[in-house]
Amino acid sequence: LAGETILLVEDARDTREFLVEKILIPQGYHVLTAADGNEALAIALEQSVDLIIADYLMPQMTGLALLEELKRRGVYTPFILITAEGSESLAVRAMRLGVRDYIIKPFDIDYFLDAVAQVLAVDLPIGQPILEMLHLANDPILITDRDNHFLFANQVAKELFNLNDPIPRGISLRDLVTHADLLAMFEDTDTRPRYEIDIRRDVGHVILNAHLTLIPDLGKIAIMQDVTRLKEADRAKSEFVTSISHDLRTPLTAIMGYIELLERVGPLTEQQRKFKENVQFSVRSITALLTDLLELSKVETGFHDALQPTQVDIIVRYAIETNRTQLETKGQRLTVDLQDNLAPVLGNPIRLKQVASNLVQNAIKYTPSGGSIDVRLYGEGEFIILQVSDTGIGIAPEDQHRIWEKFYRTKEAAANFEGTGLGLSIVKGIVDVHGGRIWVESVPNEGSTFIVMLPAYREPV
Ligand code: ADP
Repeated sequence: LAGETILLVEDARDTREFLVEKILIPQGYHVLTAADGNEALAIALEQSVDLIIADYLMPQMTGLALLEELKRRGVYTPFILITAEGSESLAVRAMRLGVRDYIIKPFDIDYFLDAVAQVLAVDLPIGQPILEMLHLANDPILITDRDNHFLFANQVAKELFNLNDPIPRGISLRDLVTHADLLAMFEDTDTRPRYEIDIRRDVGHVILNAHLTLIPDLGKIAIMQDVTRLKEADRAKSEFVTSISHDLRTPLTAIMGYIELLERVGPLTEQQRKFKENVQFSVRSITALLTDLLELSKVETGFHDALQPTQVDIIVRYAIETNRTQLETKGQRLTVDLQDNLAPVLGNPIRLKQVASNLVQNAIKYTPSGGSIDVRLYGEGEFIILQVSDTGIGIAPEDQHRIWEKFYRTKEAAANFEGTGLGLSIVKGIVDVHGGRIWVESVPNEGSTFIVMLPAYREPV
C-alpha cells in the first residue's frame, strides 16, 4: 500500500466522499479533506502532506488562488488541479503556477489514479548507499526530475546555493534557487549542456564548471566542479606575463635605438657592422616573442564582452591586403574566393583579423618562392568556414595535433624559419572563444590546409 498523505480539497460533498472512500483510501493513501480553500490552507500550513488535489471552482477561493496562497507562504507541495472547465487560458495559468497535473471532469478513475501515482513517484530511484556517497562527494551535485522538480542536492551543493533543509518535496527548481545560470542549464534543451556558473559571495566568488546529463528513469543530474583556484591561478599567470612583457619591451626599445645610433657617431668596420646586425636580429626575435606572449595572455584572459555581429569576408580581405607585400616578395601566386552575402559571426573583429592574418602569414612563410596560396570563405549549414591552403613544406601527421601547443614548432620549421611557436596557440584561443573549431589537413612536402569553422550568427527574433 502506498501510505502517502493526500489533502483533497473539494466543496461538493458527494464528489469528495466518493473520491476518498471509493478511490483513494482503497489504494492505501492517507487522506485529509477540506471543503474550501481556507480550510485547506490551515491544514497544509499545519502538517506536511505529500500531495494536494484541489477542485478549481470553489466558493471563496479557487483552486488556483489556493495554490498561489500556498506558494506565497512557502508551501510547495505538489498540486493537482481538477476542473470542469477545460479552457486553455486556465490550463496555461495552472501550468505557470506549477501545477503538476490538470484533470478535466468528468474523468476516468484509472486516469485519475495514474496521475496521482505519477506525481507521487518523484522519489529518487537511487539506493541509500549511493545517496550517501553523493552526499559526501566534494563536488556539488544537484538532481531534478525531467521537468526540473527538485529531487536531491548534496551537502556541498546545499551550502553553495544556500538551500536550507528541509527542502520541500517536488518543489520546482525555479522556486528553490535564484541563480540564473544554474536555472538556464537545467532549462537548456541541449542533451549535455555545460555551463560556467559564477556564484557571488560576500567575499569574492566561486566559479563552477558544471555539466548536466539527462538520465532516463532518473531525470537530470548536474555535477559541478569548483574551479575558482584554477581560474585565479590562470589569471595571476596571465597578469604576470602581461606585466613582464611590458617591462621588457621598454629596455629593448632603448637597445634598438642605441644600436641604430652606432653608425651615426662614427664609421663601423665590416666586422662591427656584422655584429650590429646580429644584435638587431636577436632583439627583433625577443620583441616578436614578447608581442606574441602579450597577445596570448590577452586572448587567454578572454574578451567575451567585446563580441558583435561581424562580417568575416571584410576581415579576411583586410588580412590578405596587409600581407600582400610579403607574398609578392616571395613571388607566390594567390587565389581568393570569398562567398558573397554570408551570415555574420558573433565575434571580435580585431581578433578575427588576427586569425586570418596569422594563417595567411604562416602560409606565406612555410611555402617556398613561386608556390601557391589559396584563401576561401564560404557558408555551410550553420557555419562560416575559412580555409587557407598552401603548397608549402607541410606538417608530418605526428606533428599535426601538437602545433597548437604554446612554443611547439616542427623540426623543419625551427631549423629553417623564424618564429615563436605561439601564433597558432593565439589563433586557437581566439577560435575557441568564438565557439568555433580549427584543424589542419596536411601532407609533408605537398602543402597544408588550415580550416576554421565559426558558428554563423542569426539575429534573435
Ligand atoms: P611559428 O610560425 O611562429 O613557428 P605557429 O604557432 O604559427 O608558430 O606555428 C607552429 C608550427 O606549426 C610552426 O612552427 C610550423 O612547424 C607549423 N606550421 C604552421 N603553419 C604552417 C604551414 N602553413 N605550413 C607548414 N607548417 C606550418
